[in-house]
Amino acid sequence: MKPFSLTKPSDLEAAIKAHAEEPEAQFIGGGTNLLDLMKYGVMEPKSLVDLQDLGFQEIEQRSDGGLSLGAGVTNAETAHHPKVKSKYPLLAQAILSGASPQLRNMATNGGNLMQRTRCYYFYDCATACNKRQPGSGCAALKGYNRIHAILGASDQCIATHPSDMCVALAALDAVVRVKGPEGEREIPLEEFHRLPGEHPEKDTVLTDSELILSIELPSSRYSQHCHYLKVRDRESYAFALVSVAAALHLEEGRIVDSRVALGGVAHKPWRARAVEDFLRDKDCDRGLFLQAGKLAVRDAKGYGHNDFKLELAPRAIAEALLQAWKGTNS
Ligand code: SF4
Repeated sequence: MKPFSLTKPSDLEAAIKAHAEEPEAQFIGGGTNLLDLMKYGVMEPKSLVDLQDLGFQEIEQRSDGGLSLGAGVTNAETAHHPKVKSKYPLLAQAILSGASPQLRNMATNGGNLMQRTRCYYFYDCATACNKRQPGSGCAALKGYNRIHAILGASDQCIATHPSDMCVALAALDAVVRVKGPEGEREIPLEEFHRLPGEHPEKDTVLTDSELILSIELPSSRYSQHCHYLKVRDRESYAFALVSVAAALHLEEGRIVDSRVALGGVAHKPWRARAVEDFLRDKDCDRGLFLQAGKLAVRDAKGYGHNDFKLELAPRAIAEALLQAWKGTNS
């Protein structure tokens, strides 16, 4: 790891200023991904701006009945918070399916949104990677791409976003509150992460020196019939090959509305709106869910080793919807 300086600002304004003054600075929260990236030489910030003492460590009730999740709250505290468990069980399930207890105790909510892809080549500085080094190529396109994207990829990058938490947040219409030198703004979670396009080195739409303050969850009707399904190579401490956050708002067995988002399939959490539109005003039925799942992969494309996801994703959607219908939200 290369030497770096560590700044511990006393308040938010000082943190933004310290970051803005050093072009190669990085904010650090729990550090569970950033420190790995620094050890591998993938990221080499000259300076770290530590956010741990700045607050943002509360989960608060919103006036609309929703919740505000501070960026500095750990993933473990969030998943086990009584109001998250009762009002947003989909989010609690998604968080608890990710990483390990030790990592969830360190990782912050803000850091979860900012974690970077687990593409093997991104972490291997001896290989070509447009995300790590723009213009160098993409070793995954013709390499071993079992964990890679089937939706929204480009010829520059086919990486996937690794977060489980963000998949549930996309389904729950979460909004990210951020602040930078130009002031504060809100970004829908669905728009927070980018598709790779011509600039896979950019993971999010954050501008220079903006940092995350909180994640805002609007009031939700999806606490009863929801399910997070994660398909992975082993039961614990593994990233999703495909994951599905599914939630149904039912009235007498009929679907009034639904929320479906996918992980492990794209450079960002993927909201499956075609599936949601198809399900609206229909009666729950396993066959219906199988039909719906297929709509999510209409425009999908495999790259060889990950072709199995074209079949796995629709089946996972159908199963997650089935479990949500049964009310299996734990
Ligand atoms: Fe790099 Fe993206 Fe290609 Fe992976 S898929 S090697 S992250 S450019």
